[in-house]
Amino acid sequence: MIENLNIQDDISSEGIIFRHILATATANETLEPRVPIFVKSPLLDSHWEELKALNPELFSAAKAYYIYARAVNDFDGSPLRINSTVPALRRLKLEALDTGNRVATAIASIWLSMELTLASPIQAINEIEYSLLYLPTRSSTLSLENALDRATAHQWLRAAYIELSVPSRAYFHAMSIIEESNKNDQALTLAYFAAIDALMFQSEYSRALELANKALTTAQNRNSEHEKFIILFQKLKVLLQGFRGAQESEINSTLDQLNSIDIDVIESKSKELSYLFQSYVAALQNRQSVLETAISNYKRSLNDSLQSSEFKLERMIRGELELSRLYDFIGDYEKAYKHSKTYNRLLVEKNTEQFKLSNSSFTDGIAKDIELARYRQKELTVLRSEKDGLSTDKEAMKTTIFALIITILIILALWLWISKRQSDLLAERDSLTGALTRRAMLNSLKKALKGNKASCIALLDVDNFKKINDKYGHVVGDEVLTTFTQIIKNRIRKSDKLCRYGGEEFLIYFSDSDQKSAKRILDELNFALSRQKHWSNTKEMFSVSFSSGLLDVNGETNLDTIIKMCDELLYRAKREGRARVASFPI
Ligand code: GH3
Ligand code: MG
Ligand code: MG
Repeated sequence: MIENLNIQDDISSEGIIFRHILATATANETLEPRVPIFVKSPLLDSHWEELKALNPELFSAAKAYYIYARAVNDFDGSPLRINSTVPALRRLKLEALDTGNRVATAIASIWLSMELTLASPIQAINEIEYSLLYLPTRSSTLSLENALDRATAHQWLRAAYIELSVPSRAYFHAMSIIEESNKNDQALTLAYFAAIDALMFQSEYSRALELANKALTTAQNRNSEHEKFIILFQKLKVLLQGFRGAQESEINSTLDQLNSIDIDVIESKSKELSYLFQSYVAALQNRQSVLETAISNYKRSLNDSLQSSEFKLERMIRGELELSRLYDFIGDYEKAYKHSKTYNRLLVEKNTEQFKLSNSSFTDGIAKDIELARYRQKELTVLRSEKDGLSTDKEAMKTTIFALIITILIILALWLWISKRQSDLLAERDSLTGALTRRAMLNSLKKALKGNKASCIALLDVDNFKKINDKYGHVVGDEVLTTFTQIIKNRIRKSDKLCRYGGEEFLIYFSDSDQKSAKRILDELNFALSRQKHWSNTKEMFSVSFSSGLLDVNGETNLDTIIKMCDELLYRAKREGRARVASFPI
């Protein structure tokens, strides 16, 4: 066939890939003559790229198989190969994700999970569940793509969940195999067997019996005595364990059916199965010596089969389970307990062994999330291109959304600017009186004085303010200050400025004013204050006054000089009896 197909001379990427696959797959064959194939040229990334573009699903399956087969060779069949296969298959899965082909991704994923079962059942389960939906279904035409199909995945999941003691999930997957299989084959019988087993684990004996009867109908349609026996025996166990002899007629008819099957046929297929059956029959008939022989035969045949079995630990585990069920039925609870303990110990041992195999942790949640995100991204792109025809509406929508976002951004920027300005303004005001702060006043005075206009500046100080504080308290003192400010603000013009210079000292800038009119305003202010006798924070009546030093700026621009002179004038006003304005004579 190889010669006829001319694979040997095919120089296309596929040709080179398949020469390598065939050569790798048969490299370790020692019994059979080697396949007459020679790789000739090296296998390069570009070859894989070409196949990927041509057929992503075939690419995924072929590369996965190649990774697996090479590692089996390199590690001489040791399960330690997973330290090389798992990372390589993870990379393959990412590559498959990039193609956007779900089936290709699922194929890479199921090969990855096959390797993961050796290391970490939980991760393997995750991976299989991930790929399950897109795996190829069972087909009569075998190909690389469907070598690991959905039924296989269900089968693995069933086994994995039983080992993790989650029989409900095991049952679900066994039933999935039954529901999804389109033909009546041995796999169907085994799936029934497993489903009934999972129900027994959950002590759901009525449902197990129902399913056993259904399975029996299917098995009877098939011409396999062995399969019929398997189901009948399973049904017998359900009856014996679940109903404890209550279903006597059903038990007897099942036994009759079992006895009608040629036990030699069964024995030739599986000695264990026939000895186990003989043990149950002997127990039912209360024949002690026959029972003992049958049990020891069963144990021996189990041991014999273990010598050659590939799945040694799995079979030991199954054996312990069967023995514990058998002793449980016989009523030897001590032995039943012993075997169920061994069963559990072996399960733990198996899982521990598996964890030992992986020298690194494959858990990488972030990587997984990134994978998912990229997968979604791909799906979106596909959706988008599919909807390209309907894109005008979408474009309009996009523009609207864009405009909306821009508007929101502008409003946000504006709002930020306003709130910043407000806080700037707030910082320029004294928090108690609302008059300008000293800093703000000096800044604006610098500008105003350069305008070179006629203006006056007065420094005011509340008289005997200490006494007010002492007599009426600070709250009243504060009220005096705010009232004082309010009265001044009401009297001066908009172009004038008031600032709280210190505790009870204020500075007024009279713009475009001569000394005479400024003095008149200050006198009026003192007069207004003298009439202010009621305070809300005290019942006592009193009024306050202030002294002030008034200066005609007269072209002077040095603020220090101005304030120093005002201060001197203020001191003079205090000295001359307070409640007055002191200024230079004109
Ligand atoms: P004089 O007529 O000589 O100016 O007498 P005075 O009592 O006003 O003298 P002085 O300047 O020494 O006293 C000012 C007092 O003002 C001292 C301080 O406790 C008080 N003071 C300063 N800031 C505040 C304020 O914000 N609230 C209150 N309640 N009192 C303040
Ligand atoms: Mg003072
Ligand atoms: Mg004072």
